[in-house]
Amino acid sequence: MSGHTGELVIRGARILGGEAADVLVRDGVVAEIGSIATTSGKPKSTGGGGVRRQVDADGLVLLPGFVDLHTHLREPGREDAETIATGSAAAAAGGFTAVLAMANTDPVCDTAEVAERVLDLGRAAGLVDVHPVGAVSKGLAGEELAELGLMARSRARVRVFSDDGRCVQDARLMRRALDYVKAFDGVISQHSQDSRLADGKACCHEGELSGRLGLPAWPAVAEEIIVARDVQLARHTGSRVHVAHVSTAESVEVIRWAKAKGIAVTAEVTPHHLALGTELLTGYDPVFKVNPPLRPTEDQLALREALAEGFIDCVATDHAPHARHDKEHAFPEAAFGMLGLETALAVVAETLVHGDAQLDWGAVATVMSVAPARIARLADQGRPIAVGAPANLVLVDPDAAWIVDAAASQSRSRNNPWHGRSLRGQVIATFRRGECTAYRGRLRPEELA
Ligand SMILES: [Zn+2]
Repeated sequence: MSGHTGELVIRGARILGGEAADVLVRDGVVAEIGSIATTSGKPKSTGGGGVRRQVDADGLVLLPGFVDLHTHLREPGREDAETIATGSAAAAAGGFTAVLAMANTDPVCDTAEVAERVLDLGRAAGLVDVHPVGAVSKGLAGEELAELGLMARSRARVRVFSDDGRCVQDARLMRRALDYVKAFDGVISQHSQDSRLADGKACCHEGELSGRLGLPAWPAVAEEIIVARDVQLARHTGSRVHVAHVSTAESVEVIRWAKAKGIAVTAEVTPHHLALGTELLTGYDPVFKVNPPLRPTEDQLALREALAEGFIDCVATDHAPHARHDKEHAFPEAAFGMLGLETALAVVAETLVHGDAQLDWGAVATVMSVAPARIARLADQGRPIAVGAPANLVLVDPDAAWIVDAAASQSRSRNNPWHGRSLRGQVIATFRRGECTAYRGRLRPEELA
């Protein structure tokens, strides 16, 4: 894929929230940073056949394009909920330049063939880099290893493997998977849920509220014991484990301990676990049903602090679109999951930049771009904004307050827990290798104004 030809000038953006500067992008690469001479009037020919476009970024913050380690795009198999094209559109609108597409599709992404198909559909959609996540086990059945090596050597160059939606319960299989991916610097992303402590019906944080609401309980310890086991397996194998959607304070304690020991563990937290609490379940609205479940305030606060301190490496959305006929049921029967791509930046800004001021914009760049790109080994994402770097960039209005409208989503689904809420911080424009993929909610706009 080649970048956008021609030139783009981003005028007066505050790079990582610091000093304002102009950024000149040429042929998909950052070519100059500083004070770029003004060209007047309409887009102008640059002589090389390209056109110079300009975007006024006065007051806006420029960050590296976001990278999502945890997205469900539902294709192949559940195109009624999302497709790679509609999910890519939601991602671009949300400021993402790369997403990792989870393997729990139909068919499961457990072969090189399916991985390459997902890669190709992502390229055809052409809005974000779509990297397939490979399944750890065949059919996500938790019994036999999937074709990890073939997926790694395929055109899709798979480096992240996960049975997400399900936990790899079997310690022996997890150990073998960690051993296997070490050879090509892969990582196993684990959905930590001990199935004996929290089975498939568990849907409400275990506590006073689960009893009062009469909902099947999902105890925190069901996550924590898998995290503890897996960091020990990572230590034993010398391989990399990544904890998907960390949701409890005690899981954070285990990760903190493991990092102090030098164990190769990384972790992600979702925007919803940072900002939404278990008390929202009192209305039995299935839009708040998610796995792992929303947790109490103490956990939310511990997750925020751990993200700010770096014990949790990054934010990942767990964007999980569902068709109405799967989601709009009585709470216990509804599907797990919520949308996240288009609101991730705003939730992080509202909660952690404006809210309790634990992150500055440089730290937002770290947790939403630099760290996830490093974990997934994506060489041209999450790079410092510097001359010579691929122009994967996002412009954010730090102070814009907006009200989330589920109907305005690029996603095919509408299970948006933020609907009707006011959030402060908004994605204005996304650039992938210099091409503007989204501008103020419009995809591939003709005009940047
Ligand atoms: Zn999961």
